[in-house]
Amino acid sequence: MSLLTVICPCYNEEESIRLFYQEVMKNEGFFRGKGVEMNVLFVDDGSRDGTLSEIKKLRSEDERVHFVSFSRNFGKEAAMYAGLEKAQGDYLVIMDVDLQDPPSLLPEMFSYVEQGYDSVATRRVNRKGEPVIRSFFARAFYGLMKKISKTEIVDGARDYRLMTRQVADAILNMGEYNRFTKGIYGWVGFETKWLEYENVERAKGETKWSFWKLFAYSIEGITAFSTVPLSIAAFAGAFFCIVAFIMIIFIIVRKLIFDDPVSGWPSLVCIILMTSGVQFFCTGILGQYLAKTYLEVKRRPIYLSKEEA
Ligand code: UDP
Ligand code: MG
Repeated sequence: MSLLTVICPCYNEEESIRLFYQEVMKNEGFFRGKGVEMNVLFVDDGSRDGTLSEIKKLRSEDERVHFVSFSRNFGKEAAMYAGLEKAQGDYLVIMDVDLQDPPSLLPEMFSYVEQGYDSVATRRVNRKGEPVIRSFFARAFYGLMKKISKTEIVDGARDYRLMTRQVADAILNMGEYNRFTKGIYGWVGFETKWLEYENVERAKGETKWSFWKLFAYSIEGITAFSTVPLSIAAFAGAFFCIVAFIMIIFIIVRKLIFDDPVSGWPSLVCIILMTSGVQFFCTGILGQYLAKTYLEVKRRPIYLSKEEA
């Protein structure tokens, strides 16, 4: 018998745990028929509600429920990393606890792994039920990433993915502190089958991602998978040098022909403001990369677990 581990990061999700477990285990019969056992690994990401006790209750009823509990909230990225590290399965699947990743897709996903794919990924074809500005910025982010990153980052891609142990080990080998899994998946490569589905709204509770948390996460994605912003300074510098050169010639010629008295300080102020703005902007970009490098260099652990079973 081989083993499929369902990895499920949860943060303050006490209402969803049991429902999720029941829905996922509906696939048990299918997998048993294929000679595959299932188990579930909950990663409690420092929840402050009854999430952990819900998980423990489930574990006392079913030995196939396992968990890792963090010492504090480390974020979903850290939770997914811990899940991949602790899971024992030959096949691994990462799923949200809120049932936005439909468990009914599992048999289809597994059929592609049987056909020889290394991983089966999912993407939402729409963002129905999501706030409009959130969708707008998400689309802008993916559009930008397509232009500035060599790594393939698919619009609407979910973290919901079934993979073989080999792929999971490749992901674990990328031990970076600033994690952006959507990029990491693309970076490691392997034969990936994409499945599409319509967006499903959260079963219970509410989203753990505020707009600003998502915004910071998008900066994470950009700095982790592109160095293009770092070259903006070089291009801006070259551009301003050329403009300055043209203007110097223009002013010298004007002085020689018309003997123009001193004028044009409004334009001077505009130029100074604009160039210093560009300089600060570029320094800010440098700062972003420096900050990320700083955190990488410290080699802090990605997560700390307090309790495991
Ligand atoms: N999550 C987590 N740690 C966090 C935030 C979220 O483990 O700091 C989990 C959460 O419990 C859920 C999944 O990540 O299982 C996706 O979160 P959510 O549904 O809030 O995000 P959305 O679907 O709205 O993007
Ligand atoms: Mg969700």
